[in-house]
Amino acid sequence: MNFDFSDEQIMLRKTVRNFVDKEIMPHIAQWDERGEFHAEVITDLARLGLMGVCIPEKYGGSGMDYNSLAIVCEELERGDTAFRTAVSVHTGLNSMTLLQWGTEEQKQNYLVPQAKGEKIGAFGLTEPNAGSDVAALQSTAVREGDYYILNGQKTWISLCDVADHFLVFAYTDKSKKHHGISAFIVERTMEGFSSKAIKGKLGIRAGNTGEIFFENMKVPKENLLGEEGEGFKIAMSALDNGRFTVAAGACGQIMACLEASVTYCHERETFGKKIGGHQLVKQMIANMEAGLQMSRLLVYRAGELKNKGVRNTRETSLAKWQACDFANKAADDAVQIHGAYGYSNEYPVERYLRNSKAPVIYEGTREIHTIMQADYVLGYREDKQLNKMLPPWPFEE
Ligand SMILES: Cc1cc2nc3c(=O)[nH]c(=O)nc-3n(C[C@H](O)[C@H](O)[C@H](O)COP(=O)(O)OP(=O)(O)OC[C@H]3O[C@@H](n4cnc5c(N)ncnc54)[C@H](O)[C@@H]3O)c2cc1C
Repeated sequence: MNFDFSDEQIMLRKTVRNFVDKEIMPHIAQWDERGEFHAEVITDLARLGLMGVCIPEKYGGSGMDYNSLAIVCEELERGDTAFRTAVSVHTGLNSMTLLQWGTEEQKQNYLVPQAKGEKIGAFGLTEPNAGSDVAALQSTAVREGDYYILNGQKTWISLCDVADHFLVFAYTDKSKKHHGISAFIVERTMEGFSSKAIKGKLGIRAGNTGEIFFENMKVPKENLLGEEGEGFKIAMSALDNGRFTVAAGACGQIMACLEASVTYCHERETFGKKIGGHQLVKQMIANMEAGLQMSRLLVYRAGELKNKGVRNTRETSLAKWQACDFANKAADDAVQIHGAYGYSNEYPVERYLRNSKAPVIYEGTREIHTIMQADYVLGYREDKQLNKMLPPWPFEE
């Protein structure tokens, strides 16, 4: 067991932190208030090689290990959840899934430009009547000659108006229930595709989230990912990677809560002393620190299993569940520590509280992860290696 970061990972953390401090921190309050998504941040992240950090160099990525992706997510969410979410859907849910399941042709056509950040990827699983219950989805794909004709609608899709490529899921055979779902790579430019942003979100207001629609969309048969009927399995394996990035990001959210709260503890005085001197305030700070350190251990353990090429659904689910709950609680306490000032946007902690809620809902709600963990312990659920796994790290040339 090794808990040390490599020199390369220490440098990576510094690079992302500097970027966040210079390019995100000074503007984020305004972007959040105006509900603006700033795509130029993604272009800058791509320039730094951060949109494909754990994708092998031969596919256009930076070739670093899976825990390096965690470091990027942690540091980005210290700035804002919106940009970590962008990396989660682009790299975690889309690019890593192409790396795991794609044919060589699909990797060349879609993964390479995504890993370089020249094209942006997103992930469309959720529908108006299918969230936790994936098999309830209603989108369909009917084979006609060399094409599939896609019809349906996805909702709550991150980067819906921004992404060039989407990994989407539709029934090719409804009678087979979840064994009848298939995965497709679709492009925004394909005829029959449209998107629309959702307004009035509680948080992640500097992010782009909304609906995508497929109306008699002709998708070439070469864009089927995996085999027909493998879509459910592919979606779940994608979530193993997306959840990992969400869990890592939650650590960054806790770091941001701690930074703001510690600063305020040293400034604000009540009853003749700094509030950091009051025991009940100390308790909130201590809980944040404990949450951060425990979450990190869970995240890096899941990352280590990915590095070894071992199935990690159980460990990733635990990390995601716990880290997001800790982050949500840390943000709530950060507002509490700031008293009434924490209740206004004069301080960043109200944004942290609003932002920390979505990660408790997306990529498996708190309740779904609770059930999964209980099922593992009770022996109702077990993980087997899949027929295709992520390549272990170090990657082969
Ligand atoms: C900001 C944001 C971004 C998102 N981005 C994406 C994206 O990029 N791509 C994508 O595909 N989706 C995305 N989602 C959607 C997200 O993944 C779903 O919202 C999530 O899976 C939950 O589904 P639901 O909202 O339909 O809730 P439901 O599944 O309807 O659940 C409602 C409530 O019932 C509970 N519940 C459901 N089933 C059970 C059960 N069996 N036992 C106990 N409790 C249960 C849930 O925990 C929840 O509390 C995003 C959501 C948000 C908020």
